[in-house]
Amino acid sequence: MESPARKNPTSRAEELHSLIEDERKRRHTTTAVGDTNSEISIVGTNEEYLRAEIRRALLPHEIIASSRPGNHAEENIIEEAAENNLFVVEIGASRPICLDCEDMLNELGISTQTGFSGKKSKNRL
Ligand SMILES: [Zn+2]
Repeated sequence: MESPARKNPTSRAEELHSLIEDERKRRHTTTAVGDTNSEISIVGTNEEYLRAEIRRALLPHEIIASSRPGNHAEENIIEEAAENNLFVVEIGASRPICLDCEDMLNELGISTQTGFSGKKSKNRL
């Protein structure tokens, strides 16, 4: 049975991101959540690993996206989904989505309630 309190991915990404204890890291990193065509949601970060504070808060239907160097949180989620033969239907991020990720979401037909920065990310490799 679907949990009655299941949030949209943007709210969930903001909620999980707010758990990061290091204030500087909270300002400079991104947490994202992707709802898939199954019950599974995928949680990703642009850091090397999803922080312990977030991992502890994950629900049974939420899995962790592996991080690849230079990837944005959104990209890690989409790649993790593909590896598990899943499709992301909606994605949410803890900060506005950059132009490159916006293009990728449009191309893949993924919806979001997160705002767009309209700019390329400065810390892109
Ligand atoms: Zn991006």
